[in-house]
Amino acid sequence: MTHLAVSIMVHDLAQASSAAIRAAEQGADLVEFRIDRFTQDADALIKLIENSPLPCIVTCRPQWEGGDYDGEEQSRIALLAQLHQGLRQPAYIDFELAAYQQSDQARRKINQAVDHPGQVGTTTTGLILSSHDMDGRPVDLYQCIEAMAATRACRVIKIAWMARSLRDNLEAFEIISQRHKPTIALCMGEAGLPSRVLAKKFGALLTFAAIDENSGTAPGQPTVQQIKNLYRWDAVDAETRVYGVIGWPVGHSLSPAIHNAGFDQAAFNGVYLPMPIPPAYEHFKATISSWIDASTLHFRGASVTLPHKENLIRFVEEVGGQVDALAAQIGAANTLTITEDGTLAASNTDSDAALTAVCHAMNITTSQLEGRRVALIGAGGVARAVAVAFARQKATVVVYNRTYDRAIALANSLTGIGGKIVPAKLEKLCDSCCQIYINCTPIGMHPNTNATPIGATKPTKGWGPGTVVFDTIYNPLSTRLLQEAQADGCIVINGVEMFVRQAAAQFALWTGCEAPLDLFRRTITDHLTDTQINGAG
Ligand code: NAP
Repeated sequence: MTHLAVSIMVHDLAQASSAAIRAAEQGADLVEFRIDRFTQDADALIKLIENSPLPCIVTCRPQWEGGDYDGEEQSRIALLAQLHQGLRQPAYIDFELAAYQQSDQARRKINQAVDHPGQVGTTTTGLILSSHDMDGRPVDLYQCIEAMAATRACRVIKIAWMARSLRDNLEAFEIISQRHKPTIALCMGEAGLPSRVLAKKFGALLTFAAIDENSGTAPGQPTVQQIKNLYRWDAVDAETRVYGVIGWPVGHSLSPAIHNAGFDQAAFNGVYLPMPIPPAYEHFKATISSWIDASTLHFRGASVTLPHKENLIRFVEEVGGQVDALAAQIGAANTLTITEDGTLAASNTDSDAALTAVCHAMNITTSQLEGRRVALIGAGGVARAVAVAFARQKATVVVYNRTYDRAIALANSLTGIGGKIVPAKLEKLCDSCCQIYINCTPIGMHPNTNATPIGATKPTKGWGPGTVVFDTIYNPLSTRLLQEAQADGCIVINGVEMFVRQAAAQFALWTGCEAPLDLFRRTITDHLTDTQINGAG
């Protein structure tokens, strides 16, 4: 069994006791009392341990190992050595390997306080020998593990280091899987989140979580709520398939919230994580290759966002996988699917998402778009996917862009698709006469919510009841463009529709089930209503 342990920095007894009660209520099954800043009163600590609602680990981490304790080493050891003397003993004390190896006296004292094959006393407390590197992977990682494994008094091996990239998680999984002894192997920082969330998949002794956003005791530690509700802790097992959103940055992405909610509803054995990968192709290739090669990870797919959409096509082509025709035409893909036999496929679900969002709002079929005029504002990546979608249905797409040359380049690169793609200057938007307007720029996005791509100079012809205005922005939910268009009687569509539809198509590819679109809409709308975020896909 892998425990969910809440780490609590002890400031005073009342605060630590109430945090432990909250941890138990939230579903943790272990607490760690970090006593780095509370070392003056051994009796009070013994009381804290006796009254803890959950079994506990006690840790007094010195500053030289990334903690807060800056007192005498002998006092620290003496304090740890007496904590098992109460009516109830700590389940574990955590002690640093470096300190344990440094002095005979430290070893003797710690050995007297913990249970091990040579123990003659009555202590039941187990010893966690630990090693932490706050700067990166320690060069002597495997020597540390061997030393811990070879120490008779050591019941649990704990190793933690600052992740340099997503690849470091794989080494943590390997260390856990070797099972010399019960093991905790964690990577810290944003890139280390998979090691925390997937600790249970690999059979670690425990993972650590924080009671709330402000009380984490290590970089990258999720909250109990996040690990249980967002990352599906209770459902994760050795067979759980792993998915993620690849981008840089991805910290604010809403994709984990909707896909994990969908997996839950469909009772699908999967978990979906943020996967930050720095921009260069080499990072993308090295990370994805290593995650695919790790067979016990069961990495089965990813949503791919900026700046890696082109990298995904290149990678899948290089390894001989399938790039679907639409993604190839657009030159960018947002979905990676990996089958059980290791075959890779890249596809683009953005394009159809925009198309079906518009057809649904107009209550028409996609083929009924033939001959209609569509004004696209913007000529970036999203505009390109949307232009291809409508041109394939033989609509006429006019691309209005601030940088006219970019509109020309986009039109010239997409010929022979079906409908015409025509470049135009952004200032000519007022002369347009289209039935559908689609904003593919960030104009109006949080925090610049007062901006709009169509202001005082609204198109003179065609604008009004029956005109469709679609803003791909979803933060805010209703942009100034949409508010004004609605006031003019237009049919309006917000960016959530495109976002949930591209996610729904990914969900169907990965799970073989129809996506719960309403749940996706609700999840994203709730998140956006609750928080002011910076928009990420
Ligand atoms: P991109 O490749 O960077 O393209 C941005 C486009 O916006 C360019 O054409 C740029 O014009 C134009 N632009 C930017 N700032 C402007 C300004 N102040 N005035 C006039 N034009 C401006 O970005 P992208 O990936 O296509 O994304 C575009 C938007 O799509 C995002 O902002 C986001 O809101 C939305 N989006 C929605 C979803 C969804 O699922 N709903 C997903 C992803 C993105 P220049 O060529 O002149 O620079």
